Amino acid sequence: MTEPLAPGATIGILGGGQLGRMLSVAASRLGFKCHIYEPGAAPPAAQVAHALTTAPYEDTAALSAFAASVDVVTYEFENIPTAALDLLEEAVPVRPGREALRVSQDRLTEKEFLQGLGLATAPFAPVASEAEMQQAIARTGTPAILKTRRFGYDGKGQVRIDSTPDAGAAWAQLEPAPAILEGFVAFSHEISVIGARGMDGRVACFDPGENVHEGGILRTTTVPARLSPAQRSDAVLIAARILNALEYVGVLGVELFVTDDGLVVNEIAPRVHNSGHWTQQGCTIDQFEQHIRAIAGWPLGDGTRHADVEMTNLIGDDVARIPDIAADGRSAIHLYGKAEARPGRKMGHVNRITGKPG
Ligand code: AMP
Repeated sequence: MTEPLAPGATIGILGGGQLGRMLSVAASRLGFKCHIYEPGAAPPAAQVAHALTTAPYEDTAALSAFAASVDVVTYEFENIPTAALDLLEEAVPVRPGREALRVSQDRLTEKEFLQGLGLATAPFAPVASEAEMQQAIARTGTPAILKTRRFGYDGKGQVRIDSTPDAGAAWAQLEPAPAILEGFVAFSHEISVIGARGMDGRVACFDPGENVHEGGILRTTTVPARLSPAQRSDAVLIAARILNALEYVGVLGVELFVTDDGLVVNEIAPRVHNSGHWTQQGCTIDQFEQHIRAIAGWPLGDGTRHADVEMTNLIGDDVARIPDIAADGRSAIHLYGKAEARPGRKMGHVNRITGKPG
């Protein structure tokens, strides 16, 4: 194992959104500097970082200069072009590593990886044509969900098919993207586990949170989630299994469906995750510090939860409620510094302490 990164070192972060911003704040608390690489203008993370490169992921000169200026590179989103990673990896360690990105960038590869670990997933089939999709529906029945294999987020790139006659329209909506068809999982509720693995191979998971989505976007995460003790430990064991199989370094989010027959893995995200924001008020070491510790080769926090928390995303115009929320002395407000409150845009979140773990 390489030496732990010393305070004063610089962490490079690919992506300058709110996750990069909160990683940068956590890193600065540990004495690190952050250098953000982001193609878009005015990234929220740059407001709290030491340096910013504004350039596309295809700009090899900018990538090389970025790599030369940092001690380790991490990322806040999974869809980084492969060529950019190749170039960075030659110059500087990239954590989490390549395998996690390869697996999570493509829903088909991800499902096959999860099945290979013996974990339950929705039934699925790759579909490259409308005829293949119809064959897949004949096997899974309806409802089913057609999803693009790559670049889906917040419910984008997917269409629900409620009956066979709807299928043609669903295909027309996603085509020509390579897709997978998933059978519908009859779940009672959705949870996620945020887990971390250090450079020494140690794993620490946070308590599972219960997630409610609205219009494909996460609305709330509540801890504790409604789970039996057996389901709770299953959820954590599933996350640990994935972390170890990927020889992962950093924080990873695992989204799961709770069903009568057990837990079904929906998807994994090789990064800090919106459903882990509750840890900022619920744990001594939150998911952002945990990630920085992991990629810096520091020991991990243990993940213990010391409060019951409800995290609510502030989406679009929700930010207008800030004065009211601020009046509640048990709610911690996290705003992302975004200028314009467009519909569907995550502007911030609130962590409300609802009690103490029983
Ligand atoms: P995803 O982008 O895959 O996380 O899907 C977004 C949301 O769609 C999930 O949080 C679920 O609420 C729902 N969903 C996705 N896949 C399935 C499935 N196979 N069965 C039932 N619901 C699903």
